[in-house]
Amino acid sequence: MQGMDIRQNEPLSKHSTMRLGGTAAYAVDVHARNEVQEAAEWAEARNLPVLMIGAGSNIVWRDDGFPGLLIINQIMGYEEQQEDGENCYIAVGAGENWDSIVARAAAKGLTGIEALSLIPGTAGATPVQNVGAYGQEIAQTLVGVEAYDRQTKQIVNIQNIDCGFGYRTSRFKTTDRGRFFITAITLLIQATQNGSAPVGFVRIHGIHLVERFAFVETALGETTSLRRGWGVEATRLALAYAMDTLDLHRVEAKVYAYNVLSINALRRNGFHLEGTLREARSYDGRRWDVLVYSILESEMRAQRARDHFAPMGLWPADAGT
Ligand SMILES: Cc1cc2nc3c(=O)[nH]c(=O)nc-3n(C[C@H](O)[C@H](O)[C@H](O)COP(=O)(O)OP(=O)(O)OC[C@H]3O[C@@H](n4cnc5c(N)ncnc54)[C@H](O)[C@@H]3O)c2cc1C
Repeated sequence: MQGMDIRQNEPLSKHSTMRLGGTAAYAVDVHARNEVQEAAEWAEARNLPVLMIGAGSNIVWRDDGFPGLLIINQIMGYEEQQEDGENCYIAVGAGENWDSIVARAAAKGLTGIEALSLIPGTAGATPVQNVGAYGQEIAQTLVGVEAYDRQTKQIVNIQNIDCGFGYRTSRFKTTDRGRFFITAITLLIQATQNGSAPVGFVRIHGIHLVERFAFVETALGETTSLRRGWGVEATRLALAYAMDTLDLHRVEAKVYAYNVLSINALRRNGFHLEGTLREARSYDGRRWDVLVYSILESEMRAQRARDHFAPMGLWPADAGT
């Protein structure tokens, strides 16, 4: 291929969060859509299987490797187009780091993808499994994708409605798996009013009203939002709802062992450590323990009585009585 650097015997461990796998017979980095086409045609001319990947955060490679050409998406680009005071289109190169895109949008006060922060991988991979978290998914903001269609050998634009989105799935993962190599995505997100912007979220989920238990999850997406007490306050607000409105007996939370700030937020709200799920999750190339915390109704009430943050106004005036 002209001007393209095709490597041989590429270690697949370089392209997987798990850091495992054999080798790919060939691998190439692509930086523009015409290179995608060129690379795909190079492989097809040699009857080699061909696969496009992003950062490899959702791939577990086999030990016997991949016998074809691995196309590693490194197509960059970020362009904003303000439609009006409220709506903003963002076109993003498929190889951009997704979390950076979320941070960039949030920093500008744009909302619609903030709950998808910290999801590892590239922007171009987000439509493949319709990435989602905390009730938000990319299908809610995606206008469409630009892709190289291996069937027609052309660059095509596929609108949201034609992506076949479902829960953590799309046509790119099912009926048309391997057919489209996504080169760019376009999102439509909103400018927040009055200079305020969402910084994270808290949710009560898995609610069992008969057994009277539920789970709480709190996350802050921006480093500028950390160490301000907002995580503590948000968790406390959720607990107040769990206790006063839902009349729950027990609330549980799980947290990665490295997440010191979340652990502190749970402790400051009176949660007790119940146990450790040893090396239960992988992140950033290594395995981490997951800590299980919980708080019972009586403990919540005692914490409420003790809590000197009551002036925040989250507890009712008769707190603890
Ligand atoms: C710690 C951790 C937390 C995670 N949390 C979440 C979460 O909260 N929510 C969630 O939805 N997912 C989550 N994931 C899964 C993962 O982050 C997503 O699937 C992400 O979109 C993968 O991006 P990637 O660039 O690494 O894709 P890769 O792993 O490289 O590829 C994934 C699949 O998409 C295909 N693909 C990738 N790029 C393209 C492209 N441009 N065109 C066509 N096909 C392509 C690949 O062939 C492959 O089949 C998590 C993963 C990890 C490791």
